[in-house]
Amino acid sequence: MPRFLYWYGRLFLALVLPWVLLGCQLFSSAIPESDWTKHTLDTGPDVRVRIIRKAYFTGTAIEFPAKDVVLTDGNGQAISIPKQARKVYFRMQGDRVAVAWQRGKAAFKKAQTYQQVWIKTSNQQVRIFNVIVPECRFARAYDARRLNVSVKYRRLAIITTMPLEHYLAQVISEEMDPDHFTLEALKAQAVVARTWALKNIDRHDRFDYDYCDGPHCQVFKGRKRLSRRAERAVKMTLREVLMYNNQLAEAFYHSTCGGNTVFVNEVWAGRKIPYLVRVEDHWKLGNRPYCAQSPYVDWRIYTSVRRVERALRRIKKIGKQERLEDVQVDFTNRSGRVKRIRVITDKQNFVITSNDLRAALRQEYGKRKLLSNFYTLDVVGNQFRIVGHGLGHGVGMCQWGARGMAQHGFSYREILSHYFHGTHLGLNYGRETPVSSSEAVTQNSQAGEK
Ligand SMILES: [Zn+2]
Ligand SMILES: [Zn+2]
Repeated sequence: MPRFLYWYGRLFLALVLPWVLLGCQLFSSAIPESDWTKHTLDTGPDVRVRIIRKAYFTGTAIEFPAKDVVLTDGNGQAISIPKQARKVYFRMQGDRVAVAWQRGKAAFKKAQTYQQVWIKTSNQQVRIFNVIVPECRFARAYDARRLNVSVKYRRLAIITTMPLEHYLAQVISEEMDPDHFTLEALKAQAVVARTWALKNIDRHDRFDYDYCDGPHCQVFKGRKRLSRRAERAVKMTLREVLMYNNQLAEAFYHSTCGGNTVFVNEVWAGRKIPYLVRVEDHWKLGNRPYCAQSPYVDWRIYTSVRRVERALRRIKKIGKQERLEDVQVDFTNRSGRVKRIRVITDKQNFVITSNDLRAALRQEYGKRKLLSNFYTLDVVGNQFRIVGHGLGHGVGMCQWGARGMAQHGFSYREILSHYFHGTHLGLNYGRETPVSSSEAVTQNSQAGEK
């Protein structure tokens, strides 16, 4: 063996091995498992989520657990469950719900109808229910203490009531791919999703539920992709929320900022919020952003000028014979996002907004082409080119940036204070705020004097 290899081997054993053996133990003990495993997701307030809201359907079947389930109407009157029945069938009849215990038309012929039907677990336990909607080939498992079936705006509506923390574990499983995101990033997402949920609890209030299951609120698909890691992230941050001035913060988030986040009032006019400002998403200027590993960090659209002409024609910005000659960015806001674009044709010269362009391209291609407003564009010969960065509105936490920061060793608290500068963590859903150590000392000494 060459001598240098021998010494390298020695060096490896002396330096690296103890680090691997000790270090791994140290790091794993940094998260005391006993602290979070004993927590249950059943704590905290309940939330009501309307599932499959986007789909129009008139019939559904719900499979329920074998024991401890009762059915009632809107007045609390029991609806008897036949022996051995595990599945109940619902059908919309006018503005009422018909209940049957078998599939098919015949079963519904003499079925009773109700304004609404509750399926509840006794003792308010959280159990798993399977919801099947044959019309949209839909079948999915949901956690619920109780389910409500009614008719809303001439369609069947199903609302599940479940503890907030259960809901969050499932939201995070959808909003961030839990298997590919570092735990600290998932924890940051848990705090942000929890804060957002509590702040927006009245979003669908007048329709008797709290959240829909789409991106309008937070994407929720029940137990479909529920991951243990997401559950762990929720348990490890149980009851923690983001606060500003002792109030729940506006915890916005988006997929990928592409370099820097944006001022909130540049996206939603008139909303100046001190902690939702432009944040440089990198360690130091010139470095790749924290979200550099996102598939959306850099993207481009290369397309023909003819197609863009057609798109502009569709939104009635140019005439039939008009030819597009050039495009220029007319106005960029302080966060570097394009607001207005100047369009030069052989007949005129006018300005469109970035939203106009997005709508035009979406119509032309039938899908979202402009992923963000962070781009440059030009026309070269017959080619129309856009070079862009990021996905989403750019306000608040950059999810892929959080992932990058976590990989760089930042904790979820550091991630949160990077994207929401000046906020602090509140415990117990914001009812308690942790005091800084110096304040704690003064309070203790005052207590001692009394
Ligand atoms: Zn919604
Ligand atoms: Zn970013």
